[in-house]
Amino acid sequence: MPRQPSTKEPLMKELENTCPVCGYDQLAEPARNRTGGASMEICPCCGFQFGVTDDDKGLTYDEYRHEWITTGMKWASKSQKQPKGWNPQTQLGNLALLATRKRVKGRPPRLSLQYA
Ligand SMILES: [Zn+2]
Repeated sequence: MPRQPSTKEPLMKELENTCPVCGYDQLAEPARNRTGGASMEICPCCGFQFGVTDDDKGLTYDEYRHEWITTGMKWASKSQKQPKGWNPQTQLGNLALLATRKRVKGRPPRLSLQYA
């Protein structure tokens, strides 16, 4: 399904469906709805499941992101293919940009990390 950013508030729309962990911006629904309810969706990119990884397992976005980065930023989903030209570092950079606009929960990713 091609993404059609609406001319009205295209940024907000993008933000809502952006994974707060890895910055993947094509989640089926926002990680959390307006009342804070988790989507239960598993991010195909980093594998974080909203409402489970955080609420049940007690991991924060920051902790999980760190883990994801240190394990090589691998595409998590087996059933959903990674997008063409997918670049996890670019994606994290975009997330950092969004986070500095204070609309993404959690601290921005530390881009000075050594990717090893
Ligand atoms: Zn993710």
